[in-house]
Amino acid sequence: MKTESFDVISIPAFRDNYIWLLRHGRLAAVVDPGDAGPVQAVLAREGLQLAAILITHHHADHQGGVAKLLEDHSVEVFGPGAESITGLTTPLYGGERIRPFGAFGAAAEAGEFQVLAVPGHTLGHLAYVCGNRLFCGDTLFGAGCGRLFEGSPEQMSASLQSLAILPETTEVYCAHEYTEMNLRFAAAAEPGNPAIQQRIREAAVLRARGESTVPSTLVLEKATNPFLRCREPAAIAAAKRHGCAGEDPVSVFAALRAWRNEF
Ligand code: ZN
Ligand code: FE
Repeated sequence: MKTESFDVISIPAFRDNYIWLLRHGRLAAVVDPGDAGPVQAVLAREGLQLAAILITHHHADHQGGVAKLLEDHSVEVFGPGAESITGLTTPLYGGERIRPFGAFGAAAEAGEFQVLAVPGHTLGHLAYVCGNRLFCGDTLFGAGCGRLFEGSPEQMSASLQSLAILPETTEVYCAHEYTEMNLRFAAAAEPGNPAIQQRIREAAVLRARGESTVPSTLVLEKATNPFLRCREPAAIAAAKRHGCAGEDPVSVFAALRAWRNEF
């Protein structure tokens, strides 16, 4: 991966969504603009020109603002070719490398993004990786993972595994502030895991100050996210208490995910 030369601005939207705005000089790319208004406000405030839109999956809270943004900005829209995405100009399926700022000559040194197919939450779901930053939509959350609306446990388990092998310093920019809720489940799944208790305390401090728990890091997720810990004896035991017949990671994942739906 080439050098990344942008910083990331968090744009809260709706109740608990995060739209990520990547700023490279005076150019901006946005990931999952579910709402146009808050994005337009940040573009105006920071004096930025929109250069590209990146979409992880088709749900309205991730692409609902695209039509309005395209009225004012004629830009490339990257997203899953397997899903219905408003204004999609560059259909992606995973395995590609894209340069969202690349059409702008002066910005040619800006980051190259690796596109990963991460089916599970939806079938065409994509993740974008640039340097040590991962934009993963509703696949991996702080201490949790997305619901299986379209895919199978096998698919989601494999998708999470493909994210877990990224460098441990990778920053995880997910699309929702669900961390505290997820940590309550994590503590129930692994009551003896001190890293989870520590993270609960840290998240409470952040949220009490009105701050975000996102991004986290992959090393923290690997220590505290039950859906990345399906080989741990405690997680296997918890899954068994909730109807899991086998000990293989996919069965454990499926049982934990089903339990989480009712938690
Ligand atoms: Zn979603
Ligand atoms: Fe969502």
